[in-house]
Amino acid sequence: MNRTYDVAVVGSGFAGSLFAMIARRLGYSVVLLERGRHPRVVIGESSTPLSNLLLEDLAKRYDLPAIRPLTKWGSWQERYPDVPCGLKRGFSFFHHDLHCQDPWKTTAENHFLVAASPHNAIADTHWYRADFDQLLVKLAQDLGVEYVDQVHLQRFADTGERIELAGTRLGKDITVQAAFVVDATGPRGCLHRLLGLQSRDFSNYPKTQGLYSHFRDVRRVIENSHHQRSDCPPYPLEDAAVHHVFDGGWVWLLHFNNGITSAGVAATEAMARELRLAEGQPAWSCLLDRLPSLAAQFADATSVLPFTYLPQLSFRSATVIGERWALLPSAAGFVDPLLSTGFPLALLGVARLAAILEQHWKLPSMQQELSKYAASTNDELDATSRLIAALYANMHNFEVFRAISLLYFAAASFSETVRRLGKPHLADGYLLHNDPRFGPASRDLLERAQAGVTAQDTGRFKEEVKRAIEPFDVAGLCTERAMPWYPVDAEDLRKSAWKVGATEKEVADLLERSGFFTQR
Ligand SMILES: Cc1cc2nc3c(=O)[nH]c(=O)nc-3n(C[C@H](O)[C@H](O)[C@H](O)COP(=O)(O)OP(=O)(O)OC[C@H]3O[C@@H](n4cnc5c(N)ncnc54)[C@H](O)[C@@H]3O)c2cc1C
Repeated sequence: MNRTYDVAVVGSGFAGSLFAMIARRLGYSVVLLERGRHPRVVIGESSTPLSNLLLEDLAKRYDLPAIRPLTKWGSWQERYPDVPCGLKRGFSFFHHDLHCQDPWKTTAENHFLVAASPHNAIADTHWYRADFDQLLVKLAQDLGVEYVDQVHLQRFADTGERIELAGTRLGKDITVQAAFVVDATGPRGCLHRLLGLQSRDFSNYPKTQGLYSHFRDVRRVIENSHHQRSDCPPYPLEDAAVHHVFDGGWVWLLHFNNGITSAGVAATEAMARELRLAEGQPAWSCLLDRLPSLAAQFADATSVLPFTYLPQLSFRSATVIGERWALLPSAAGFVDPLLSTGFPLALLGVARLAAILEQHWKLPSMQQELSKYAASTNDELDATSRLIAALYANMHNFEVFRAISLLYFAAASFSETVRRLGKPHLADGYLLHNDPRFGPASRDLLERAQAGVTAQDTGRFKEEVKRAIEPFDVAGLCTERAMPWYPVDAEDLRKSAWKVGATEKEVADLLERSGFFTQR
């Protein structure tokens, strides 16, 4: 095979396939090159309101109607009932002490819940990536993207006019030329390797490791067991991205509707050594022994995949773009699964690169725009790493951990609201890091928190977080509550209309439009 295309996308994860579809919609000839074969397992599964909104915006803007149902649980079930996914009504956090073997019960102090949707129909989802990614590849092919799998790329060359990618497929040579190449192969990916790009660390970020698998027969034991009827949490506790946090690390649990649960642990190097994560399955069993409530959930569980051990979770490429090529944010860097930041970062990058294809196809305008893209990608990775580093530094102090996470939820819900109101310029940059008020205030708090907030300073730190988020809080995050639950309440948004430069009528219309009151 030896062909020339306008655009070559390397890597057919969801982001690569989506970008390939958009490029086709813009009228370019596109080849999508994949090392493996679908369906195949990749990790990174939990979406968020912002990631679904970004996906919906891209689907609308680039006329991809087949993608839109995938942005909400309800429409997904109607349109693609055979593609597995998980129901994600929010983010559930539970705190544990690995040194305490007493039976664990939820209390007002050791958990909190942040709802992301008022009911199931418009809820977020966990994407079962094997089938989800396979569907996207098919949709890309339907649009005329040429898909080539089992490609082993070995050479990248700039011919002066085009990029030439060469390698083998099933023992035969393959060469592809393209005017523009996007690398969607994830961390330490294809171009990083072929071009010998340097890696660099996030500043003040702890080294972390991971271990994960997929399981069958995981019980949902903690669900609602301790609650009275009058005292109901905003959603069933495990219809969520479930986070079990302890000093030095955390465990995630994502339940899919095909009986599979994705679970794994991310931990600092010190904790990873203590847990012996490198040993794989035995380390998981030892970890469960130290987390009795989780052990009960996994009593009958079996892993359906070999355990994957990641000796270093975070990654960052020192270079993000070159002439006629760019790494997607997910290839340029990764911080941690905590708070599901990977998808929105990837989708923001897809949107920016799509705009370049749309408006700046020709050099040198393309290169100028690519430089801006690289700067945004780096800034957003930095903002994410500051947030996650602060969370890691305070996993022993759950009050502070919760306060820090509210910085994230305030920024995310504000960004989502202004986007839905058609005012994306009010939330320029992931986590509002570019906002002249929120940006510096949160940066200061996060940098201080990276050193760990002392017990004495906890109260003051929480007050400072509250002051920082109050002008942006559209989700009732500053409201004092008997239980640490943050429901999605239309009233919170109505009362906050002025914060997003809207009238109450505009907010009421927004709620109506977004299906807030339609439970079907
Ligand atoms: C443990 C873990 C948990 C995570 N959990 C979440 C989460 O819950 N929510 C979230 O938002 N983000 C999460 N992330 C981040 C998330 O995985 C990424 O944001 C997301 O997968 C990026 O999608 P992608 O399509 O760009 O790349 P990927 O999903 O990484 O897909 C890359 C594709 O490229 C192919 N490929 C790789 N190398 C080559 C090559 N040389 N040539 C051709 N093809 C190649 C691969 O086979 C694959 O198909 C997590 C990450 C990790 C490590």
